[in-house]
Amino acid sequence: MNGIEINGTTGLLGLLGNPVEHSVSPVLHASLVKKHNDNYAYLAFRVEQEQLKAAVEGAYALGAKGLNVTVPYKKEVMQYLCEIDEKAELLGAVNTLVRTEHGYKGYNTDMPGLYRAMRYDGVSLEGQNVVVIGAGGVANAVLGMLFEAKVKKILILNRTKEKAVQLAERFQRVYADREIVVKTASYEEDYPAVMDEMSQDAAGTGHIAQAGYFGGEKKKDWLAIQATSVGMSTKTDEAAIGESAFYDRIACGYDLIFNPYETKFMKLVKEHGGKSYNGLRMLLFQGIYAYELWNDISIPDEWAADVLQQMKEAMGITKA
Ligand code: NAP
Repeated sequence: MNGIEINGTTGLLGLLGNPVEHSVSPVLHASLVKKHNDNYAYLAFRVEQEQLKAAVEGAYALGAKGLNVTVPYKKEVMQYLCEIDEKAELLGAVNTLVRTEHGYKGYNTDMPGLYRAMRYDGVSLEGQNVVVIGAGGVANAVLGMLFEAKVKKILILNRTKEKAVQLAERFQRVYADREIVVKTASYEEDYPAVMDEMSQDAAGTGHIAQAGYFGGEKKKDWLAIQATSVGMSTKTDEAAIGESAFYDRIACGYDLIFNPYETKFMKLVKEHGGKSYNGLRMLLFQGIYAYELWNDISIPDEWAADVLQQMKEAMGITKA
């Protein structure tokens, strides 16, 4: 157990989703509560769809200071909030509710969480060529981050091309002033064109080029962000893209999946000489951002390693 002592003044924080039983958010937040010497209990609530409105209103009535919202309610919950942060509105998803005088205000901490995780891992974005694999819910946070970080080129690959096109068009409309080249493709239908695009001489200017990957025999000048659900749960031996030539171009592969700890995508990146990361630090930092919003505080990055360790222990991960 996490050692929190419940008493008459313990405040309530929590998670709404379905399912929630395997979530590590309670461990993450219990660790922050302890480190910051606060008095909260963070509980995971499995909520049926028809009860979502009642759950939000009930939590407010009970005085809950803040909530996280996870799959499948990140979009649906927005209609029950008194206000939505501008960035969350743009991303079309809310994962954090902050108590206000009139109800909960919705935020999206996935996007800044991913940015802070990448920074923590030493992956820089500015001026970089980035291939995004996937165009589902979380790809919105990825696109928002990439446009904000002023990358050079974005190539969105998705099984269903139409979704990649819609995603690209939406962000290009909002960030019309950014000079970022955005291309879309279906990796199943357009694979040769994808490889042509990735083979063009487009030297990155970020850490990848500086780290010396660029200029060798194989030009590894792309950062790949894996944002599909392929490789999770029962399909851990699968990756959305299997072709070797693709991985020859990847200097750094960032998988948003964190369970398994090392995905097939990450293994392929590594086998082809690139660096790979999983999504656990994104999960960590989206939680840290939520905790900061609830309490109007800043949590030092130095705490991150300890909290991460608690999360890994809870997940039974023994790897460094
Ligand atoms: P989603 O909205 O359901 O989108 C799923 C994506 O995966 C779509 O691009 C979909 O392609 C693709 N996909 C699914 N099955 C596929 C298959 N068999 N072959 C090829 N492509 C397939 O899910 P999401 O919310 O974006 O989440 C995606 C992943 O990100 C999940 O694994 C989740 O764990 C992870 N995630 C991590 C964090 C974190 O904090 N680290 C936060 C959020 C999400 P189509 O469009 O063609 O269907």
